Amino acid sequence: MTARAEIVVDLAAIRHNVRVLKQLVGTQYMAVVKADAYGHGLVESARAAREGGADWLGVATIDEALALRAAGDTGRVLCWLTVPGDDWAAAIEQDVDVTVYSEDELDAVLATGPRARVQIKVDTGLHRGGAPRAAWHDLIASAADHDREGRIDVTGIWSHFSSSDEPDDPANDAQEAAFQDALDVAAGAGLEPEVTHLANSAAAILRPSSRRDLVRVGIATYGLDPAPGRTPDLGLRPAMTARATLAMVKRVEAGGAVSYGRTWTADHETTLGLVPAGYGDGLPRVGGNRAEVQVAGRRRPVRGRICMDQLVVDLGGDDPGAGADVTVFGPGDGGEPTAQDWAEACGTISYEIVTRIGGRFVRRHTDSERIAR
Ligand SMILES: *Cc1c(COP(=O)(O)O)cnc(C)c1O
Repeated sequence: MTARAEIVVDLAAIRHNVRVLKQLVGTQYMAVVKADAYGHGLVESARAAREGGADWLGVATIDEALALRAAGDTGRVLCWLTVPGDDWAAAIEQDVDVTVYSEDELDAVLATGPRARVQIKVDTGLHRGGAPRAAWHDLIASAADHDREGRIDVTGIWSHFSSSDEPDDPANDAQEAAFQDALDVAAGAGLEPEVTHLANSAAAILRPSSRRDLVRVGIATYGLDPAPGRTPDLGLRPAMTARATLAMVKRVEAGGAVSYGRTWTADHETTLGLVPAGYGDGLPRVGGNRAEVQVAGRRRPVRGRICMDQLVVDLGGDDPGAGADVTVFGPGDGGEPTAQDWAEACGTISYEIVTRIGGRFVRRHTDSERIAR
């Protein structure tokens, strides 16, 4: 417990969350492990998700998919974001299912030679990646031809919601209807893909009609709430704790201003604690004067601006001593702030809090269901 600043990820929580969610949805489960598993560690998190029952792993880039293979994962893996010149052949050779958005991308896949497993992403209203409606017919017809002739295996058709965290937004119904249109185009072309899928965490939990054959679950795999205030209590367990060791305690007189720019001034004498983590380690600078951390078991407010390497908290006259344990955020069951609390204090979402934390935090994996490894 003496590390300066560390991220502790409980792999048992990931395993538990996958089990609970898979049971809830009753479909195949893709654990989304892009962006270093939302900051939780790609390889370890992927392994825990597989142990919990994940049928698929989902990543953005080919490099992420190859990293899973290099670590020994032999199950189904889907990737979905490429640029011209990416090494499609490497992904296909490693049995990764790749996603195409356009006929150019389909041509790049065909050029790799061996029979690739390909999924088609259709844009149903997010207007981000995926084939726009005007291109569905030709892309799907072309993919169907190549599938029939044995050059590729079209394993899936899928799309992605814009507003699944707002379940009452009519955009969700519109996207589900548009997705059905795309599937009708595929059926018309004679395609029978192994899986069709649309739901991310929020949709998987809140919109049973969107579950289809498989759900792509990122944030909820890590125990965080995809739609705060709207999600029923499923007993998910946040896997990540960010902790540090208090560097110093000092007194400040009434009138003493704290940190750069003097944005907070003590109105009475108090004690201050120095936490050795800052925006250089991924804690948002905007959390100054807003966020809280837990020091020696008590919630303490951040005072003044968060600096690159450190932040200051108000200890209210107490002196837990240098070396005291600081929980920046954690599951919340010990009274500590959560990633969601940090997100609210910083005007962002928990995804960004856990994905960006890093810098000099050292990441360590534990397993509360087994002996710590
Ligand atoms: C990131 C991502 C997901 C996972 O979203 P969550 O809200 O974290 O569940 C699913 N599908 C796609 C295409 C994504 O990019």
